[in-house]
Amino acid sequence: MAQTAPVLHRATDALAAADPELAALVCAEERLQADTLRLIPSENYVSAAVLAATGSVLTNKYSEGYPGRRYYEGQQNVDPIEELARDRAKALFGAEHANVQPYSGSPANLAVYLAFAKPGDTVLGCALPMGGHLTHGWDVSVTGTWFRGIGYGVRRDTGRVDLDEVRSLALRTRPRIIFCGGTALPRTVDFAAFASIAAEVGAVLAADMSHLAGLVAGGVHPSPVGHADVIVTTTHKTLRGPRGAMLLSGAEHAKRIDKAVFPGLQGGPHNHTTAAIAVALKEAAGPDFRTYARAVVANAARLGDELAARGFDLVSGGTDTHLLLTDLTSWGVAGKPAAKALDRAGIVVNHNTVPYETRRPFDPSGIRIGTPALTSRGLGVEHMPQIAEWITRVVRSVAEDRPDVEKQVRGEVAELMAAYPAPGLPVG
Ligand SMILES: *Cc1c(COP(=O)(O)O)cnc(C)c1O
Repeated sequence: MAQTAPVLHRATDALAAADPELAALVCAEERLQADTLRLIPSENYVSAAVLAATGSVLTNKYSEGYPGRRYYEGQQNVDPIEELARDRAKALFGAEHANVQPYSGSPANLAVYLAFAKPGDTVLGCALPMGGHLTHGWDVSVTGTWFRGIGYGVRRDTGRVDLDEVRSLALRTRPRIIFCGGTALPRTVDFAAFASIAAEVGAVLAADMSHLAGLVAGGVHPSPVGHADVIVTTTHKTLRGPRGAMLLSGAEHAKRIDKAVFPGLQGGPHNHTTAAIAVALKEAAGPDFRTYARAVVANAARLGDELAARGFDLVSGGTDTHLLLTDLTSWGVAGKPAAKALDRAGIVVNHNTVPYETRRPFDPSGIRIGTPALTSRGLGVEHMPQIAEWITRVVRSVAEDRPDVEKQVRGEVAELMAAYPAPGLPVG
């Protein structure tokens, strides 16, 4: 990281000179990201190279259209950049077509609806409180108001997606699109099983691997390629790229997907993001990325074991992936006060609903924990007992009303984090 620090430092100097108030906030955020143990499963640390592409002059460009078919002149550098990103995406995932223009995961999912469905059509997705995403037809989302969203869940006894329920709901409601994947599902997504259900009812299968893309690229989670008609992914979660998204498909759907993204849904692509996606995809194709992906899963499995041994109740009993969902009911503590106490202790998680939630959605029973960011800093399985112990001490301190514990843990966390500098940091 040392060789790129001067570039980032220059950017910080310019910001500090032009807007000290804003610069101070960005610096404070850098410090926060450096000093804390970040366990949000959808977050990560991008490399200095990805940060540099994101902050490049490409933000100055307009490029409506696709390479070779633009509505603007001056695309001699932008076209090859987007081609690089598309080719690298296709090669990494073994897909025939890639569209790298969606602004983020939610617009990418909207493009799936636009490409394959009409307003009022039925869509089947994992229900939000069961671990699905808003954009899979949940009612507060436009996808649940303009389409008829039907939600499947996980089994009460296993905490795993109930494929019998998926099949019977699909047979009964005849969805136009079936979404698989989610935001709080700790177990492997069975893309082949979803594909066979989709084929049986004549539905389009959309695999949303936003959380899993880095694990798929790293060879530690099965790929949806060959099973799903269209694959959606964000680029900023386990894949460790900039905030953005991609759509992958077979050649037969290329045209309708491209048309749905532009001109169907978006205007000019974010070329600085496209460039950073290209960089991230190059990194994800390298051997170090496989090591990272394996370590993400090994760390989550070990952290799950260590938490379970300390009395934590894990949804599905553990994990196959990068994330853990724990129900704190048996501790007599709700998810939000636990997450707030952990935050004060320098451990960043989010409160989350658990399947068959008995509390209210904005004050749920669980917390969600993920290992991508800590793995990107180089922490390994040997650190997981310590992390589980910190989480235990803080959650217990909430039950016992002993806020002094937070301060002790915060100091210990900062000490460990100082020994494992994050990619892209420190800046300036
Ligand atoms: C994160 C996520 C999204 C949405 O991505 P944004 O970039 O936040 O809009 C969609 N689907 C799934 C499964 C996700 O995890």
